[in-house]
Amino acid sequence: MRGPNVGQFEDFKASALYCPRCKRAMPVRSRLLLVLPDGELHEYLCKACASSLGTKTVRQQKQLQLYMP
Ligand SMILES: [Zn+2]
Repeated sequence: MRGPNVGQFEDFKASALYCPRCKRAMPVRSRLLLVLPDGELHEYLCKACASSLGTKTVRQQKQLQLYMP
């Protein structure tokens, strides 16, 4: 288990979000909801009660633009 402040920030993963059911900031796990043409839509779920705490679109790196016409 890592503490909340170990000095490493993962830029597209939230480590903890406020959970209205647990009434505190909780560690989350992300789940892939949708694959979009330009990225992926992830949903964040509370690790304790599995409430949905939010979504985030993760943009792909610019690989697809190699194929610009
Ligand atoms: Zn919760």
